[in-house]
Amino acid sequence: LPDTFWSITYDTASVTSLHAIAAAREQLDMGIRQHGMVGRDDLPKLRIYASQEAHSSIEKAVLTLGLGMDSLRKIGVDDSFRMDPDALQEAIEQDKADGWLPFCAVATIGTTSTTSIDPVQDIAAICRRQSIWLHVDAAYAGPAAMLPEKRPLFEGWQQADSIVVNPHKWLFTNFDCSIFYMRSPSILASA
Ligand SMILES: *Cc1c(COP(=O)(O)O)cnc(C)c1O
Repeated sequence: LPDTFWSITYDTASVTSLHAIAAAREQLDMGIRQHGMVGRDDLPKLRIYASQEAHSSIEKAVLTLGLGMDSLRKIGVDDSFRMDPDALQEAIEQDKADGWLPFCAVATIGTTSTTSIDPVQDIAAICRRQSIWLHVDAAYAGPAAMLPEKRPLFEGWQQADSIVVNPHKWLFTNFDCSIFYMRSPSILASA
Protein backbone atom coordinates (compact mmCIF):
# COMPACT_ATOMS: atom_id res chain seq x y z
CA LEU A 1 0.00 0.00 0.00
CA PRO A 2 1.19 3.57 -0.60
CA ASP A 3 2.64 5.56 2.30
CA THR A 4 -0.50 7.69 2.35
CA PHE A 5 -2.14 4.97 4.44
CA TRP A 6 -2.02 5.28 8.19
CA SER A 7 -2.71 2.18 10.25
CA ILE A 8 -3.77 1.11 13.69
CA THR A 9 -4.09 -2.28 15.35
CA TYR A 10 -7.63 -3.21 16.30
CA ASP A 11 -9.21 -6.23 17.86
CA THR A 12 -11.51 -7.59 15.16
CA ALA A 13 -12.45 -6.94 11.57
CA SER A 14 -16.03 -6.54 12.75
CA VAL A 15 -15.10 -3.56 14.91
CA THR A 16 -12.80 -2.20 12.19
CA SER A 17 -15.54 -2.24 9.56
CA LEU A 18 -17.96 -0.70 12.06
CA HIS A 19 -15.53 2.18 12.61
CA ALA A 20 -14.76 2.50 8.89
CA ILE A 21 -18.45 2.91 8.12
CA ALA A 22 -18.80 5.35 11.03
CA ALA A 23 -15.94 7.37 9.50
CA ALA A 24 -17.59 7.25 6.08
CA ARG A 25 -20.76 8.61 7.64
CA GLU A 26 -18.86 11.26 9.59
CA GLN A 27 -17.26 12.48 6.38
CA LEU A 28 -20.72 13.47 5.15
CA ASP A 29 -20.51 16.28 7.71
CA MET A 30 -24.21 16.14 8.56
CA GLY A 31 -23.88 16.67 12.29
CA ILE A 32 -24.70 13.04 13.08
CA ARG A 33 -22.03 12.87 15.76
CA GLN A 34 -23.70 15.69 17.67
CA HIS A 35 -27.37 15.38 16.74
CA GLY A 36 -27.75 11.69 15.89
CA MET A 37 -30.14 10.51 13.19
CA VAL A 38 -33.40 10.10 15.03
CA GLY A 39 -36.26 12.45 14.26
CA ARG A 40 -34.33 14.55 11.77
CA ASP A 41 -36.15 15.51 8.62
CA ASP A 42 -33.07 17.32 7.30
CA LEU A 43 -31.24 14.01 6.78
CA PRO A 44 -31.56 12.03 3.56
CA LYS A 45 -31.78 8.25 3.81
CA LEU A 46 -28.23 6.92 3.69
CA ARG A 47 -27.29 3.97 1.52
CA ILE A 48 -24.35 1.60 1.72
CA TYR A 49 -23.50 -1.19 -0.73
CA ALA A 50 -21.89 -4.60 -0.37
CA SER A 51 -22.16 -7.81 -2.36
CA GLN A 52 -24.46 -10.67 -1.41
CA GLU A 53 -21.30 -12.51 -0.34
CA ALA A 54 -20.08 -9.83 2.07
CA HIS A 55 -19.38 -10.84 5.65
CA SER A 56 -22.20 -10.49 8.20
CA SER A 57 -20.07 -7.94 10.08
CA ILE A 58 -21.22 -5.35 7.54
CA GLU A 59 -24.83 -6.00 8.50
CA LYS A 60 -23.88 -5.81 12.16
CA ALA A 61 -22.14 -2.48 11.61
CA VAL A 62 -25.18 -1.08 9.85
CA LEU A 63 -27.40 -2.21 12.72
CA THR A 64 -25.06 -0.87 15.39
CA LEU A 65 -24.76 2.52 13.69
CA GLY A 66 -28.54 2.90 13.66
CA LEU A 67 -28.70 2.94 9.87
CA GLY A 68 -31.03 -0.05 9.76
CA MET A 69 -30.99 -2.95 7.35
CA ASP A 70 -32.88 -0.91 4.74
CA SER A 71 -29.77 1.20 4.29
CA LEU A 72 -27.70 -1.80 3.17
CA ARG A 73 -28.22 -2.67 -0.46
CA LYS A 74 -26.80 -6.04 -1.45
CA ILE A 75 -25.35 -6.18 -4.94
CA GLY A 76 -25.53 -9.33 -7.04
CA VAL A 77 -22.51 -11.45 -7.94
CA ASP A 78 -21.26 -13.29 -11.03
CA ASP A 79 -20.58 -17.04 -11.43
CA SER A 80 -17.41 -16.65 -9.39
CA PHE A 81 -19.21 -14.87 -6.52
CA ARG A 82 -17.66 -11.48 -7.36
CA MET A 83 -19.66 -8.28 -7.08
CA ASP A 84 -21.10 -7.13 -10.40
CA PRO A 85 -19.82 -3.55 -10.80
CA ASP A 86 -22.44 -2.69 -13.42
CA ALA A 87 -25.15 -3.68 -10.96
CA LEU A 88 -23.46 -1.45 -8.35
CA GLN A 89 -23.42 1.48 -10.74
CA GLU A 90 -27.10 0.96 -11.60
CA ALA A 91 -28.10 0.65 -7.96
CA ILE A 92 -26.36 3.93 -7.10
CA GLU A 93 -28.03 5.77 -9.97
CA GLN A 94 -31.42 4.36 -9.10
CA ASP A 95 -31.00 5.19 -5.41
CA LYS A 96 -30.00 8.77 -6.15
CA ALA A 97 -33.05 9.17 -8.35
CA ASP A 98 -35.16 7.81 -5.48
CA GLY A 99 -33.76 10.28 -2.93
CA TRP A 100 -31.22 8.09 -1.16
CA LEU A 101 -27.74 9.40 -0.38
CA PRO A 102 -25.17 6.73 -1.33
CA PHE A 103 -22.22 7.18 1.04
CA CYS A 104 -20.20 3.96 1.21
CA ALA A 105 -19.41 0.76 -0.67
CA VAL A 106 -17.71 -2.30 0.76
CA ALA A 107 -15.62 -4.48 -1.56
CA THR A 108 -14.38 -7.83 -0.31
CA ILE A 109 -11.01 -9.36 -1.14
CA GLY A 110 -11.50 -12.95 -0.07
CA THR A 111 -15.11 -13.59 0.89
CA THR A 112 -15.55 -15.85 3.87
CA SER A 113 -17.59 -18.48 2.02
CA THR A 114 -15.55 -18.89 -1.17
CA THR A 115 -12.54 -16.48 -1.08
CA SER A 116 -14.01 -14.72 -4.11
CA ILE A 117 -12.46 -11.36 -4.93
CA ASP A 118 -14.59 -8.38 -5.89
CA PRO A 119 -13.32 -6.32 -8.85
CA VAL A 120 -11.92 -3.63 -6.58
CA GLN A 121 -10.49 -1.50 -9.36
CA ASP A 122 -13.87 -1.17 -11.08
CA ILE A 123 -15.62 -0.58 -7.78
CA ALA A 124 -13.02 2.05 -6.82
CA ALA A 125 -13.61 3.90 -10.09
CA ILE A 126 -17.35 3.99 -9.41
CA CYS A 127 -16.79 5.19 -5.85
CA ARG A 128 -14.49 7.98 -7.00
CA ARG A 129 -16.95 9.11 -9.66
CA GLN A 130 -19.81 9.08 -7.17
CA SER A 131 -17.74 10.52 -4.29
CA ILE A 132 -18.52 7.65 -1.99
CA TRP A 133 -16.26 6.03 0.59
CA LEU A 134 -14.67 2.71 -0.39
CA HIS A 135 -14.03 0.25 2.41
CA VAL A 136 -12.14 -2.91 1.44
CA ASP A 137 -12.76 -5.95 3.60
CA ALA A 138 -9.58 -7.97 3.14
CA ALA A 139 -9.92 -9.51 6.58
CA TYR A 140 -9.49 -12.99 5.24
CA ALA A 141 -7.22 -12.85 2.16
CA GLY A 142 -5.34 -9.60 2.91
CA PRO A 143 -2.11 -11.26 4.07
CA ALA A 144 -1.71 -12.73 0.56
CA ALA A 145 -0.75 -9.22 -0.58
CA MET A 146 2.71 -9.97 0.83
CA LEU A 147 3.24 -12.42 -2.02
CA PRO A 148 4.34 -10.62 -5.20
CA GLU A 149 2.63 -13.25 -7.38
CA LYS A 150 -0.72 -12.54 -5.66
CA ARG A 151 -0.52 -8.74 -5.99
CA PRO A 152 -2.67 -8.59 -9.14
CA LEU A 153 -5.60 -9.88 -7.07
CA PHE A 154 -5.39 -6.72 -4.97
CA GLU A 155 -5.35 -4.25 -7.85
CA GLY A 156 -7.37 -1.20 -6.91
CA TRP A 157 -7.25 -1.55 -3.13
CA GLN A 158 -4.68 1.21 -2.95
CA GLN A 159 -7.52 3.55 -3.94
CA ALA A 160 -9.65 2.59 -0.95
CA ASP A 161 -10.47 5.01 1.85
CA SER A 162 -10.17 2.22 4.41
CA ILE A 163 -9.06 -1.41 4.48
CA VAL A 164 -9.11 -4.17 7.06
CA VAL A 165 -6.70 -7.12 7.16
CA ASN A 166 -6.81 -9.81 9.84
CA PRO A 167 -3.45 -11.19 10.98
CA HIS A 168 -5.48 -13.51 13.21
CA LYS A 169 -6.47 -15.53 10.17
CA TRP A 170 -3.79 -16.49 7.64
CA LEU A 171 -0.94 -14.99 9.69
CA PHE A 172 -1.77 -17.25 12.63
CA THR A 173 -1.45 -14.59 15.31
CA ASN A 174 -3.51 -15.06 18.45
CA PHE A 175 -7.05 -13.75 18.63
CA ASP A 176 -7.68 -10.84 18.26
CA CYS A 177 -5.55 -8.90 15.81
CA SER A 178 -6.88 -6.81 12.94
CA ILE A 179 -5.13 -4.02 11.09
CA PHE A 180 -7.14 -0.99 10.10
CA TYR A 181 -5.59 1.00 7.25
CA MET A 182 -7.05 4.33 6.33
CA ARG A 183 -6.25 7.66 4.78
CA SER A 184 -7.81 10.12 7.19
CA PRO A 185 -7.29 9.27 10.85
CA SER A 186 -8.77 12.65 11.78
CA ILE A 187 -12.15 11.57 10.37
CA LEU A 188 -11.93 8.36 12.34
CA ALA A 189 -11.14 10.35 15.47
CA SER A 190 -14.06 12.69 14.97
CA ALA A 191 -16.40 9.76 14.23
C1 LIG B 1 -13.56 -13.33 9.33
C2 LIG B 1 -14.02 -12.23 8.49
C3 LIG B 1 -14.52 -11.03 9.06
C4 LIG B 1 -14.72 -10.86 10.54
O1 LIG B 1 -13.54 -10.98 11.25
P1 LIG B 1 -13.50 -10.81 12.83
O2 LIG B 1 -12.10 -10.37 13.10
O3 LIG B 1 -13.83 -12.15 13.39
O4 LIG B 1 -14.50 -9.79 13.23
C5 LIG B 1 -14.87 -10.00 8.22
N1 LIG B 1 -14.78 -10.13 6.89
C6 LIG B 1 -14.32 -11.25 6.30
C7 LIG B 1 -14.22 -11.31 4.81
C8 LIG B 1 -13.94 -12.34 7.09
O5 LIG B 1 -13.52 -13.48 6.49
